[in-house]
This record gives sequence, C-alpha cells and structure tokens, in this order.
Amino acid sequence: MDVIQTVTEIDPTEIQAELQRVSGAFESSSPQDVLRWGLEKFRGGITLACSFGAEDVALVDMIARMDRSVPVFFLDTEYLFAETFEVRDRIVERYGIRPLGVKPVLTIDEQAALHGPDLFARRPDQCCKIRKVEPLRRHLGGFQAWVTGIRRDQAPTRANAGLVEWDKLFNLVKLNPLARWKSEDVWAYIRAHDVPYNVLHDRNYPSIGCTPCTRPVQPGEDPRAGRWANFQKKECGLHTESGPGRAA
Ligand code: SF4
Repeated sequence: MDVIQTVTEIDPTEIQAELQRVSGAFESSSPQDVLRWGLEKFRGGITLACSFGAEDVALVDMIARMDRSVPVFFLDTEYLFAETFEVRDRIVERYGIRPLGVKPVLTIDEQAALHGPDLFARRPDQCCKIRKVEPLRRHLGGFQAWVTGIRRDQAPTRANAGLVEWDKLFNLVKLNPLARWKSEDVWAYIRAHDVPYNVLHDRNYPSIGCTPCTRPVQPGEDPRAGRWANFQKKECGLHTESGPGRAA
C-alpha cells in the first residue's frame, strides 16, 4: 500500500516511518530529484512557500522548469520590505507565475486595537502566531504537501530537517529539497541560472523577514543574528513543532 498517497486515512506514525525511508533514500540526490518526486506524488495537492529569500527563489526557478502550474504563496504579514515586493514582481515577470499573498485575519490596526500597538516589540511570538502561523495553517489546510527552502545549517532547530518529512505542526507532508545544501550552493545556483533575488541580500541581510524584526548583520555574526535581534527568539514558528519561539 502507498501510505503517502492515502495521507488523510492512515495513522501519522505510519506515514512518518515511510517518509523517513523516502528521505533517507534521497540523501545523495539533488534538490530537483526531491522536487520531481513530490510534484509527481502530490500532483494538484502540493504548494511552494516562498518568502522570496535566496533559497525560495532558487526553488521557484527549479519548479518553474518542471511545472509552472504548482501554486506558490507567500505570507503577507503587512510588514514586508518594499524590496521583497520588488523581487516578487521580478519573479512574476520572469516566470509568469502568480504568487498568492496569504494575509492574517487581523490588519495591523485591528491587531493594535486588540493587543496594543507594536506587538512585535513586546510579544513577538504572539505577533508571529497571528501574522504568520495561523494564516499558514489556514492556507495549508487545502494541501497534502508543501515545499520549503529551509536548510540544515541555517539554525540548530533545522539541523535534523529531512528532505521529506511529516509536518506535525500543520499535519501534511513537508519537502525540504535544499536541506543538504550550504548557502554557497544556493548562490551558485542563483548565479548559474540568473535567478532574480532580493537586493537586500547584497546589503548584509542574509535572512529577510518583516521590517521591524530584521536588521543587517555585521561581519562574523550568525546569518540569522539579524532576525528578532533584541530577543532570544530565532524562529517565527513555521518550522518548529512547538510553534513560535527560540532556536534550541
Ligand atoms: S516577524 Fe516580527 S512583525 Fe513579522 S509577524 Fe513576527 S513578530 Fe510580527
């Protein structure tokens, strides 16, 4: 029996075991091999999460070479950089795709009325939950699998990411085709294929999120040091089982 294709009917532990086997088999494969498997296995039920960072635009290019009908979305927190929308527009022009902006239920003003102004400066976990995690949960409810750009060496919380795994937080299959890649591999791909990328990467922003919670890094700093720089928090909660919080 193909336990993955019957993902909604089977005990998740059985799916996890099968996905671990599949992931292990891909340990010496290319990201494109992982993507090809996922696009075939979950045809019509798979989506790419794209924050328009370096990893994500590389994935857009890879997927566009295979199947431009795969839906692409981004979490529009209403706090994104203008430069992020600029690369979104260049991606649209280059590949002819229409990334969907998934928004929170609350506008920034509505959130301020309920929780006070600048929640990001006081309770960033709650802000991420409202503006990222819950919108993502709502959106992923319509899919069997999602593709992300996370890499194992980005953070301790990502060190054990499988190439293919069961996402316990959102209850669907998660593909991390770039998990084995280093940053240099991503940039080599971007340059080799002339992929549009966020110009903030050239201004010492290796990791780009929301404007109030992202700053450039200094030479020698961890690439994610510019995210939530005034807090222990290092994850928005999209890629950790427990939701928003600090890196382990
Ligand atoms: S990154 Fe900052 S502004 Fe964006 S949702 Fe999280 S706390 Fe809010």
